[in-house]
Amino acid sequence: MATDFTKYIASVPDYPEKGIMFRDISPLMADGKAFHAATDEIVTYAKGKGVEMVVGPEARGFIVGCPVAYQMGIGFAPARKQGKLPRPTVKASYDLEYGTSALYLHKDAIKPGQKVLVTDDLLATGGTIGATIQLVEDLGGIVVGTAFLIELKELHGRDKLKGYDVFSLMTY
Ligand code: IMP
Repeated sequence: MATDFTKYIASVPDYPEKGIMFRDISPLMADGKAFHAATDEIVTYAKGKGVEMVVGPEARGFIVGCPVAYQMGIGFAPARKQGKLPRPTVKASYDLEYGTSALYLHKDAIKPGQKVLVTDDLLATGGTIGATIQLVEDLGGIVVGTAFLIELKELHGRDKLKGYDVFSLMTY
């Protein structure tokens, strides 16, 4: 029987602001068996897509992407906020509720034509993952899939990812 991963997600009302229901993946990470099983689900998806490299945005994209890359014996590259990567980078900006933000990727992180899986803990509006995809594509990578632990349906992030394959373990 398929695992019900939602029992490992803590739903926190009014965090970080009133009216927001925050989905906290910490209990999933804290349970070794459940975290392993969740990682395995994404690995199975990634193997089916012929993934050669994993990229995830700071910070929870690392938590999801690194064990997937490790399990597959392939590389992981972090997409980071300004000033965090020490060597030449490409940059992608994206909209926040108020203002904009940007993510950066080392210029040599992806080889042209490489098949890439982009991971994060949660898909909301799709802004964060959209910027991560842009970074990979700027370097000539092919985004063959995107994978999340959680998808918030009502924020329609999937609509922003038209043309990309989206895998989510849980939906709210
Ligand atoms: P988006 O850019 O609007 O799709 O928001 C997704 C990003 O915000 C991800 O990097 C998440 O880590 C973070 N995020 C937004 N809402 C939540 C939440 O409820 N729980 C955990 N992370 C969240």
